Amino acid sequence: MPGEFDLIAKYFTRATPSAVLGVGDDCALINPTPGMELAISTDMLIAGRHFMPSDGPGTIGHKAMAVNLSDLAAMGAAPRYALLSIALPEADEKFLRGFVGGFFGLAQKHNVEVIGGDTTRSGLLTINVTVIGEVPPGQALRRDAAQPGDDIWVSGTLGDAAAALAHHQGKLRLETDQAVQCFPRLFVPTPRIELGLALRGIAHACIDVSDGFAADLGHILERSQVGAEVWFDQLPLSDALNPMREIPVTQECVLAGGDDYELVFTAPAAKRASIQSLGRDLNLRLTLAGRITPEHGLNILNDGQPMMLSRTGFDHFGT
Ligand code: ADP
Ligand code: MG
Repeated sequence: MPGEFDLIAKYFTRATPSAVLGVGDDCALINPTPGMELAISTDMLIAGRHFMPSDGPGTIGHKAMAVNLSDLAAMGAAPRYALLSIALPEADEKFLRGFVGGFFGLAQKHNVEVIGGDTTRSGLLTINVTVIGEVPPGQALRRDAAQPGDDIWVSGTLGDAAAALAHHQGKLRLETDQAVQCFPRLFVPTPRIELGLALRGIAHACIDVSDGFAADLGHILERSQVGAEVWFDQLPLSDALNPMREIPVTQECVLAGGDDYELVFTAPAAKRASIQSLGRDLNLRLTLAGRITPEHGLNILNDGQPMMLSRTGFDHFGT
């Protein structure tokens, strides 16, 4: 059975050309680009809570890197480095091979160098990733920067990951072609790194949708001390979900479902043309679906009718 240091050497040690010192010492050493601010974030994934132990090892590895990169995207930061701490029930080399395939595969795509971490044994598979990115001073896309009158934009489509989970749990029935569209959104999410970078100097506030559109937009509203009106009928749904747009469980997936990892951002109306052309350049759907209001609170309208969250989903008031 391989020991801790064998595992580190075999699976977690990769070239780190831009670091001063990578894996193998008490600390890694990096030389930040002069004048840049560092954006640093960490996210933990626990078996049974953030993924199922039965999920493919490659998808677990991908997701561990993706959710962290998504936080850098939401700040408009360029990814540079990551650290990986992993607690494993056993030295399962089949799992590790698959895991590092997904993890380093996505890291390489975004030029992320893994410069350190920790490896330990534990009954519960737990993965903690820390990412370090860079952003020019004052250009980070902060949650507290939304202004009354700003447009609210959403990238990609909302609700697909939650719909896949709901299908898996028997709460929603997806046809095969719908499932084929939704499941990759749950298992191999795409961090919107290029969008985050391009939104520097255009967007005011930005957040990634990890807990659900309404909750995450709510964080912007709270930190910015503003409110919002959102037009549910304008929110971007995939071809898979759009035909079910008026069904409460779909509405709950769209408004309250997590794991989309799309970006929600606010920008002044004067930036509409730049944002639309950005969407074309990135080949990414960018949808204007609301506006920031000076009055506090989140008002979600469907064809002009207010919606509210009930136990069964988002419904019209009084129906
Ligand atoms: P220490 O005893 O100083 O904590 P470790 O023995 O835990 O060091 O780790 C040895 C080296 O391997 C360190 O440079 C550490 O950052 C790196 N390392 C350990 N686990 C991982 C991992 N899962 N991924 C990347 N690097 C790791
Ligand atoms: Mg250690």
